[in-house]
Amino acid sequence: MNSKEFERRRRQLMRMVGADGIAILPAAPVRTRSRDVEYRYRQDSDFYYLTGFAEPEAVAVLVPGRAGGEFLLFCRERDRDKEQWDGIRAGQDGAINDHGADDAFPIDDIDDILPGIIEPCSRVYYTMGMYSDFDTRIADWVNSLRSGLSRGLHTPHEFVALDHLLHDMRLYKSRGEVAAMRRSAKVAVDAHKRAMQMTRPGLYEYEVEAEFRHEFRKNDAWVSYSPIVGGGANACTLHYVENNAELRDGDLLLIDAGCELDYYASDITRTYPVNGQFSPEQRAVYEIVLEAQLAAIEKTVPGNHWNEPHDAAVRAITLGLRKLGLIAGSLPKLIKDGAYRQFYMHRTGHWIGMDVHDVGDYKVGDEWRVLETGMVTTVEPGIYIPGKRNIPKKFRNIGIRIEDDVAITAKGPDVLSKGLVKDPDGIEALMQS
Ligand code: CA
Repeated sequence: MNSKEFERRRRQLMRMVGADGIAILPAAPVRTRSRDVEYRYRQDSDFYYLTGFAEPEAVAVLVPGRAGGEFLLFCRERDRDKEQWDGIRAGQDGAINDHGADDAFPIDDIDDILPGIIEPCSRVYYTMGMYSDFDTRIADWVNSLRSGLSRGLHTPHEFVALDHLLHDMRLYKSRGEVAAMRRSAKVAVDAHKRAMQMTRPGLYEYEVEAEFRHEFRKNDAWVSYSPIVGGGANACTLHYVENNAELRDGDLLLIDAGCELDYYASDITRTYPVNGQFSPEQRAVYEIVLEAQLAAIEKTVPGNHWNEPHDAAVRAITLGLRKLGLIAGSLPKLIKDGAYRQFYMHRTGHWIGMDVHDVGDYKVGDEWRVLETGMVTTVEPGIYIPGKRNIPKKFRNIGIRIEDDVAITAKGPDVLSKGLVKDPDGIEALMQS
């Protein structure tokens, strides 16, 4: 993302914050994985969205209209010894020269400097409850001003939920963001193709998972969530991540895997036969899911509300399950009673962006949100048939999901992950190539 885009975002937010407000955002803390080993650092999405600054131990402050600078960055100081161990730091000069800060201060001086910057402001925009340690520090800074009231210090009289403004901004992706998401989807598409071409009976699920990690790192991307690689009945466990079973001839393999590239996520699912050939029953169920997914994508257009794609998927799945003889009754009653839920128990999509399950409200008041250009959602219906006795044996333990990432545009649904085959004949052809 180029620096102009970060600047544009800050300006947009500052217009909403207003001249007497201040917005404060902390960087994500470093997290411990085990003992003295840390997780690889990943910046907080809100913080990165406004700053493009990837270092920990930083605080961004937006003070619209402040004469001495509107965008302030508190960050680590340059330190030759520490940089020898942990890598280069931007320092205050880097914050100003490379990240667009109007002014920058050492993070260790924040207690002395920030209260004075907060003082003249009436409203503090801040996301409470995200990082509890930082919540306490915000309270301490404001309280330090309160205790100075008798000395004539001013104090903000209102806290406003920053996430409410920021997450609505993040829901609408710019052209640059959609392009970044298309690149992220392309890397995941290539990884899924690799996996399809190498899958065969006798491999273990983790061996297929390795193809994803290889392709992601080869492209400077990381997994955006733990890949789900589930053969046979494992496909029916929605969040299966053990990925340690042997792939068996005659089973299906469900893979839900995506990457994060340049802070933008992809999230793709495909299901295909381990031996490269769908059985008639597998194909019959697969075609229902595919039809449901295509029907849902068709409804992913401006002016429809959030739930219309889901309604379309539910209708197609209910019709299909009835045709297979797995449920019986009239269509309206089956839908009303939720008969499909024993086979399709999740929603048809979620917002996707910098976070896999991205920010943004699905309802406005009591009403479903209306879809608009710039929003990006997954479309991912599925059917999961339990291995129960009342189910005909040939259908037992079939789990199928098909998921793509779809940008909503005035020209219709823009499937960012469209390079990846999903019709059953195409899958069989690719697997045999
Ligand atoms: Ca997924």
